[in-house]
Amino acid sequence: MIKHKPILIVISAPSGSGKTTIVKIVREKCPEIFYSVSATTRKMRPGEINGKDYIFVSHETFEDWIKNGKVVEWAKIYGEYYGTPKEPIDKALKRGQDVILDIDVHGKRSLEKIYGKDVVSIFLIPPSLDILRKRLISRGAESKEKLELRLKLSREEMKWGYEYDYIVINDIKEKAAENVISIIMAERMRRERILNLKELLENEN
Ligand code: 5GP
Repeated sequence: MIKHKPILIVISAPSGSGKTTIVKIVREKCPEIFYSVSATTRKMRPGEINGKDYIFVSHETFEDWIKNGKVVEWAKIYGEYYGTPKEPIDKALKRGQDVILDIDVHGKRSLEKIYGKDVVSIFLIPPSLDILRKRLISRGAESKEKLELRLKLSREEMKWGYEYDYIVINDIKEKAAENVISIIMAERMRRERILNLKELLENEN
């Protein structure tokens, strides 16, 4: 059996690309991967569970965590803090468990500075901007101005893709999730990550 050095799988996407759904499918299909629950100061949305989707905290608490090094990376997005609690991922890596993180490009950059080549970055994109527009409209309840603003932002965010290891198109969600899982499987088998390589290549039995 291959024993590999654990990896940190970062999944980012422009807003409206359906990332949450893909990450959910991957989590269900790969329960052996540790999901890093981010902390945030933003308000809880309907259906979200504290501690499962995010750890919802106050601005004071978050600022205290930054000061005390309790978040390994953090970003301020639309005026709210988002960050990755340090202890849970360090513990997972110590156990030899892979970690999956649903974070933005700033988080990815910070993690790469700390964990180097152990980070595998995946950028999820909508099949086209036209489809993204349709998806945003079908979510409803947005004014024309808001919709145009969201589209403009997404178009800007698409450029982050240039610095990711992999690009996955979110056309059919099951297929996109399967592609993400294939990337994870292949990355685990990279020669330089295999801890028991000598045993695999040289043992007689
Ligand atoms: P939302 O509020 O829609 O859940 O997330 C907004 C953005 O924050 C998304 O792009 C998401 O990837 C990013 N995000 C969520 N958690 C973290 C985190 O821990 N660190 C960073 N840097 N970004 C995060």
